[in-house]
Amino acid sequence: MRHPNYTIRLSCACYLISCLMATALIMANAEISPLRSAIHAVTPLASRELAQPSVPRSLTIIGATVIDGTGGRRFRANVRIDGDHIARIGLFKPEPGDRVIQAAGMIIAPGFIDIHNHSEEGLVREPAAANQVSQGITTLAVGPDGGSPWPIGDYLKKREEQGIAVNVLSFVGHATVRQQVMGKDYDRAARPDEIDKMKTLVDQAMREGAFGLSSGLEYDVGRSATTEELIALASAAAPYGGIYMTHMRDEEEGMLDALREAIRIGGEGKLPVQISHIKMGNRNVWGQAFRAIAIINRARRSGNDVTADCYPYNAWASTITILVSSRRHEDKTEVETALRNVGGAGHVLVTACRAHPDYEGKTLEEIAQFTNVSAVEAYQQIVRDGGAGIVCSSMNDADVRTFYRQRWVMVASDGGIGARHPRGAGTFTKVLGRFVREQHWLSLEEAIRKMTLAPAARLGLKDRGLIREGMKADLVVFDPKSVEDRSTFKEPTLLSKGVYHVFVNGQPVWEYGRTTGKLPGSVLRRLKSD
Ligand SMILES: [Zn+2]
Repeated sequence: MRHPNYTIRLSCACYLISCLMATALIMANAEISPLRSAIHAVTPLASRELAQPSVPRSLTIIGATVIDGTGGRRFRANVRIDGDHIARIGLFKPEPGDRVIQAAGMIIAPGFIDIHNHSEEGLVREPAAANQVSQGITTLAVGPDGGSPWPIGDYLKKREEQGIAVNVLSFVGHATVRQQVMGKDYDRAARPDEIDKMKTLVDQAMREGAFGLSSGLEYDVGRSATTEELIALASAAAPYGGIYMTHMRDEEEGMLDALREAIRIGGEGKLPVQISHIKMGNRNVWGQAFRAIAIINRARRSGNDVTADCYPYNAWASTITILVSSRRHEDKTEVETALRNVGGAGHVLVTACRAHPDYEGKTLEEIAQFTNVSAVEAYQQIVRDGGAGIVCSSMNDADVRTFYRQRWVMVASDGGIGARHPRGAGTFTKVLGRFVREQHWLSLEEAIRKMTLAPAARLGLKDRGLIREGMKADLVVFDPKSVEDRSTFKEPTLLSKGVYHVFVNGQPVWEYGRTTGKLPGSVLRRLKSD
C-alpha cells in the first residue's frame, strides 16, 4: 500500500508521524522490557492467524456491571455473545457449551471508537494493534487531518486481505486529493478546473467507502486552499452521507475565525462538521475555551450539526515548522514570538530528527544549551537540516476539562500504532483513570458515551457503539478501580493497565495483558446516503 504520495507528503505532520512510527517501533524493541517483548512475541502469531478462518463462538460474561454507551446509568447484567453479535443481556444462566468469563467488579462497555486515528501504516505493520486494543479501542477511523491512504478502495481491500484485530474505516484527505491534482504546485489557490478534478476524486473515494472529507488546514498542502474550494469538495462528500472533519486553519489566536470557517463549510456544503482535537493551542488564548463553545452552541441552536473531539493531553505533536505559521523561519523575531507563545523553548520536545538523532528526547532549550547557540538558532538549524517531529506542551488542563464537559465533545486520540506521543497508547485509559476516577471531571457513564455511542452516531455506524441485543459484539471489560494509562512523554509506548478483555466482532483480541493473535476486525465502508 506504499504509494508515492506517502513520500511526497512528508510536509504534513500526520505523514511525518506515520513515517516515524516505524523508527519508534524499532526503538521500542531495542530496550527489551518484559512487557514489550511479550507484545512483540505475539506478532508472528497474528500473521499465522491469517490462514485460519475466524471461528464464531458463544460466550457469556457474568457478574459485570454494564455501561451501555447511551450515558444512562449502569446496571448489573450478564452479556452473551453468539458469533459476531450480542445475543442476550440480563440476569440469565450461561448456556451449556458457552465459554464463561467471570467479571465481578468489572465494567463491560461497548468497544471504544477512535474517530481520529493515525494508524494507516501502523495497521499494515502491526495488525494486532496492541497499543490500541490494550486501551479498549475496537474501531479506528483513519485518514484524518487531510491525509489519507489513496486510493481508499485499495487500502481497505488490502486490510481485509491482511486481517486486522480492530475494525477500520477511512476518511478521504483533502491534502491527498489536492496533491493528486496539483502535484508539488500546491502552494496557491486551486483553479476551477482543478477543483472539479478534486471533486471527482472525492466522489470516487466516497463510492469506495470513505466516511467523509478530512482537512488539515494548518499543514503545507492544505493551507493555501480557499474556503470555497473546501465547500466544493465537502459538498461532493455530502450526497453519500459523509461528514466534514477538520484540523482547522488555526488553533491559536485565529482559532475562533477558523471555527467560523469550518461551520460555514458544513453549512454551505450541507453536511455535518467534526472539529478535530479542539484546543486552545497557546498561552495567548488559554482560558478562552468558553468563546469557542459559545460559537459552536450558537451554530448548533441554529441547526448546524457541529461536534468535536478532544485528546486528553496538554501537549500536541506535529512537525517543528508548524510553530511559525508564516513559515518565515529565518526571521528571528517570528521564531522568538512563536517560542514565547508556547511557553518557551523548554516546552518544545524533539521526538524525531533525522539529521540529528542525538536531539531526540531533548527539549529545544536543552539542544540550544548543548550546542551552545540560542534557542532561535537551534530552531533555525533544525529547520534547515530537514525539520523534526516535536511534542509541544502549550495547552492547559482547564481548557481540556471545559471542552470535555460539553456533551458534543468526544474522546479521540489523534494517535495510533507506534505514535511517539503518549496519546497513542493511553488516550482512553487516561480519561477513565485520571479524569473520571481521580479528578471527577465526568461520570463514567458520560465518558463512555463520548467513546462509543457519540462517535458511532457521528459516523453513522448503526450496529456499533452500544450494548444492545443484535449489535455487533465489540466489547471492553475493564476494572474501574485500576484502569489507567502508563504512557508518558518519555515512554510513549507503555501500554495501559486495567483492561482485561476486548472483543471485536465477538472474538477476543486482548486478554489478560496480551493480544490473542486473532484478527476479527472488519473494514467498514459508508457506501450510500441515508
Ligand atoms: Zn490534526
